[in-house]
Amino acid sequence: MLNDVFVSLFKRPFTERYPYAVKPAPDRLRGKLLWDESKCDGCKLCVRDCPAKAIEIEVVDRAAKKYLYHYRIDRCIYCAQCVESCKEGALTMSNTLYHLASADKAAFTEIYGAKGTGACSEEAAEK
Ligand code: SF4
Ligand code: SF4
Repeated sequence: MLNDVFVSLFKRPFTERYPYAVKPAPDRLRGKLLWDESKCDGCKLCVRDCPAKAIEIEVVDRAAKKYLYHYRIDRCIYCAQCVESCKEGALTMSNTLYHLASADKAAFTEIYGAKGTGACSEEAAEK
């Protein structure tokens, strides 16, 4: 055993240096839900099919197809049922935005849309 301990002193650690060195996640990782306002027609199929009741859609102007998309990160179970249900392709799950822990409760609710506070895309979230 002492021999093993001695040898291990001169080996590189097997552990990852996360969060200081983050490896790219798999393409199909289901991270934060993102909503493309330009594709959404307000049909609410995603709301109906979400098993966790994590989505609400607020109609701002139905004629102009303007909505606010409320997404509860703390309720989401990352099943991607909403993505499957959306026939317009307006929903995706990010494989880069998945560091979602927070000590602030407000951080667990996103409001996407013109007057919302959430970043609807990975590019917008990085700003
Ligand atoms: S991923 Fe699942 S739980 Fe999360 S919002 Fe979509 S349907 Fe609801
Ligand atoms: S299912 Fe798609 S198009 Fe319908 S309300 Fe949800 S995001 Fe919009």
